[in-house]
Amino acid sequence: EGVGRTENPWEVDRGCLQEVGETLGEGQFGRVYKAYWNTSILVAVKAIKDDCMKRTEFLREGETMRRLRHPRLVKLYGVVSKPESQPLLLLTELLPGGSLLHHLHALNSKGTPHSHGVLAKMGAQVASGMAYLESEKVIHRDLAARNILVADNLSVKIADFGLARFIKDDFYLRRSNVKFPVKWTSPESLVHNIYTSKSDVWSFGILLYELFTHGGSPYTGLSNKEARHSIQDGELNRCPPDCPPTVYSMMLDCWRANPTDRPSFSIILPTITSISDSFITQ
Ligand code: ADP
Repeated sequence: EGVGRTENPWEVDRGCLQEVGETLGEGQFGRVYKAYWNTSILVAVKAIKDDCMKRTEFLREGETMRRLRHPRLVKLYGVVSKPESQPLLLLTELLPGGSLLHHLHALNSKGTPHSHGVLAKMGAQVASGMAYLESEKVIHRDLAARNILVADNLSVKIADFGLARFIKDDFYLRRSNVKFPVKWTSPESLVHNIYTSKSDVWSFGILLYELFTHGGSPYTGLSNKEARHSIQDGELNRCPPDCPPTVYSMMLDCWRANPTDRPSFSIILPTITSISDSFITQ
């Protein structure tokens, strides 16, 4: 027992992976590609550039991420961390539809945008995964349409939950970094670096805005620096054209200045679900 085993129960042997097909995407932390795991299971492999990940912390604490299982979360199967000279690989469930942001843009440019019913249903699916994360006391920290993946035309899953915490501060979290997702970030996170499930709720409001603008940009036309000032001054995104008032009212609830005044995901979930049902049965 134990002979020849790696000390990490979720470690996968690099030799068990065979890359297939084209690159799935280029993330800010590295390349994402499709591979066979043990010649039978198709997975998405995310190669993390070494200079941006706190590798040791991730390997120590990241196992809690693997234990999180929910139909609305992208499954993390395992990691390849050896040899240390090579990039860290994350093996996750493969979602053929790519990112939600890309999906919304693609449908919109084809002239076939989703109905309000479908958009609200996707919002409800995200809220369902987030309610689970909230109950597990896990903060996403980077909830945005670019981090939601599409399984098929009507169903979505949350990716990269909890990963932001392992990104080196100087690479990603530094306030001046262009990659810092200012437009998705709550005022208390921007000003005091405070992250809670209620700051995820703020980002969820921005995600609803992205859905109901079919992939539009929040704070359109503002630079990150200008958006930071707007957020700190309490200026909110206006109601998108054609957005149902019930949905905009939920966005405004998510954007309350005081985090304790924002609804929790356990409250958001039934509300957005009934909004979604009302559109579908209309
Ligand atoms: P990063 O977070 O490093 O910016 P992402 O995880 O967003 O990188 O990945 C970049 C792109 O790769 C995504 O926009 C998506 O198109 C694709 N991608 C990522 N993960 C998967 C997956 N599990 N299945 C299918 N495509 C994926």
